[in-house]
Amino acid sequence: MNAAQKHGAVVRGGGVVSDILQEKKHVKGIRLTSGEEIYVQVIINVAGPGSSAINKMAKVTDDMTVKTRSGTYPSTRKF
Ligand SMILES: Cc1cc2nc3c(=O)[nH]c(=O)nc-3n(C[C@H](O)[C@H](O)[C@H](O)COP(=O)(O)OP(=O)(O)OC[C@H]3O[C@@H](n4cnc5c(N)ncnc54)[C@H](O)[C@@H]3O)c2cc1C
Repeated sequence: MNAAQKHGAVVRGGGVVSDILQEKKHVKGIRLTSGEEIYVQVIINVAGPGSSAINKMAKVTDDMTVKTRSGTYPSTRKF
């Protein structure tokens, strides 16, 4: 992360991604549950158990061979 920041990356935490913004089938950013939109050129999905939910937002579930069972984030499952 330090190396990425040295090359200009901005690290933010605490936001929950609620949608992947697209234009002409290309990602253009994310929307947070706060309503804030952040525009980016590349999205790397590292959401762990929530990664399938992110893939669903990006409408790429059919392209994925690995799927997670956690459908939402924060998880609504009761353990
Ligand atoms: C009970 C349990 C025990 C485990 N024990 C071990 C162990 O002993 N050894 C081992 O090697 N592995 C263990 N694992 C597996 C280990 O947790 C995972 O392999 C590892 O954490 C995966 O890292 P990750 O960065 O891919 O995902 P995670 O660590 O799950 O990180 C994903 C992040 O994405 C965030 N996120 C998800 N959805 C959204 C969203 N919509 N918006 C914003 N943020 C979001 C989450 O809050 C989280 O911070 C265990 C897992 C579990 C559940």
